[in-house]
Amino acid sequence: MIKYNSTRGSQQEKTAAQAVIQGIAEDKGLYVPDQIPALDVSPEALKDATYQEIAEKVISAFFTDYTAEEMKACVYGAYDDKFEEKTIAPLVKAGDAYFLELYHGRTAAFKDMALSILPYLLTTALKKEKEDKKICILTATSGDTGKAALEGFADVAGTEIVVFYPNQGVSQVQERQMVTQEGDNTAVFAINGNFDDAQTGVKLIFNDSAFAEELAAKGVKLSSANSINIGRLVPQVAYYVYAYVQLLKQGAVKPGEKINVVVPTGNFGNILAAYYAKQMGIPMGKLICASNENNVLTDFIRTGEYNINRDFYLTNSPSMDILISSNLERLLYHLSGNDGAEIKSLMEQLDKNKVYRVNEKIRSGLADFEAGYADMTDTNQAIGNMYEENGYLMDTHTAVAYKVYQDYKKETGDETVAVIASTASAYKFADSVAESLGLPVAEDGFANLRALHEKTGVRVPKGLEGLEEKPVRHTGVLEKDEMKDAVLKFILRY
Ligand SMILES: *Cc1c(COP(=O)(O)O)cnc(C)c1O
Repeated sequence: MIKYNSTRGSQQEKTAAQAVIQGIAEDKGLYVPDQIPALDVSPEALKDATYQEIAEKVISAFFTDYTAEEMKACVYGAYDDKFEEKTIAPLVKAGDAYFLELYHGRTAAFKDMALSILPYLLTTALKKEKEDKKICILTATSGDTGKAALEGFADVAGTEIVVFYPNQGVSQVQERQMVTQEGDNTAVFAINGNFDDAQTGVKLIFNDSAFAEELAAKGVKLSSANSINIGRLVPQVAYYVYAYVQLLKQGAVKPGEKINVVVPTGNFGNILAAYYAKQMGIPMGKLICASNENNVLTDFIRTGEYNINRDFYLTNSPSMDILISSNLERLLYHLSGNDGAEIKSLMEQLDKNKVYRVNEKIRSGLADFEAGYADMTDTNQAIGNMYEENGYLMDTHTAVAYKVYQDYKKETGDETVAVIASTASAYKFADSVAESLGLPVAEDGFANLRALHEKTGVRVPKGLEGLEEKPVRHTGVLEKDEMKDAVLKFILRY
């Protein structure tokens, strides 16, 4: 049985179900599995398996307390015709790379891969643990998590969901997706601050034990839909296994041949899932961490020093406009040999001094990783070139990864087969993508979306059709210190 402990040292030995419900540990750490299970079959043996079958296998290996029947219900409930591609996550070759398209779910970004299953994992956990409190999900979003979580939890019995996004820090399409959200149990607020402010605010609420008691008395318990929740992370491991199996099937790699993986990174969840897949036994060489101008991770991976004493930039890949990458804490814990005291000390240094340096042991573990960053000009150029040369349309985040991959290849000459995590539909960032293709750019994001469609003929995701005409339901704007009150007011609204 795999147990879940906190990255900050308290040996809590939780089951997966308990960790999913709890979201974040009492000592402010994140839940991590006490071991990373090996995949119990070879990737070749999975060549005829569907996405769902692979997901079932991978998630079950981590969440050993869920019965086979429970896991099947979760997986098949999540990965159904909500996805516009039958294969859920197609692997498409364009130019010199393979793009793992993770954005064919309801909200047109990769967050759907985990957030369509999280509500099933959570409601199953509530039943297993005989938890009778209502769960209120708090979510900070840099643009895509918010909508995916809202879609996942809207009108799910026994749950409420509150989303906070940075005011003016998301694209017009992203904002419209969130503020038009339906469902009686949903609330959405813009925060006057950036994503880090929103995420810090949410973590502060989680760590407020007096508030937790106040809510408990009202029959409510808080949980998280951010990738700090282990129920977000584990389902993402599945698509890296699936990608490798597809490469085998397409004859792009021989059994056992290593691949490189390139991930446009913000909160470090997606690339950590790739690391878990590698630990499970998927043949992987380098995990390449791609950032935009907010390149704190590039510096960290190259030097071992994590330093957020730096300017914060709003870029055209807003879902990566992050300085405090929460899931890095999990990687550091694993690389330190599960040294919770060390991780606690590093996180306290980050809180206090905005900087920490890791020890040699952790540093040497980082050898699996490479890092690079792309600025907005390079990103736009990558989109334009890729479209011109291969007729393939990338969104801004995917383009950051592709550009970093090109730089990596130039520097190292490493021609290992590469999979790029393709994290969003280009239509979500229509302004920048239209500009990159040399189209005249309109003020209105929806006009750009239409122009982009006319030029490329690429199908517009169903979730974005008609979005422009949908009525706005959420108009609240908050200061950072008003978040807790807003949560309470929402919970007490009846
Ligand atoms: C969230 C997001 C990312 C960053 O993923 P992390 O798991 O936070 O590193 C990259 N691209 C898009 C489009 C996203 O929505």
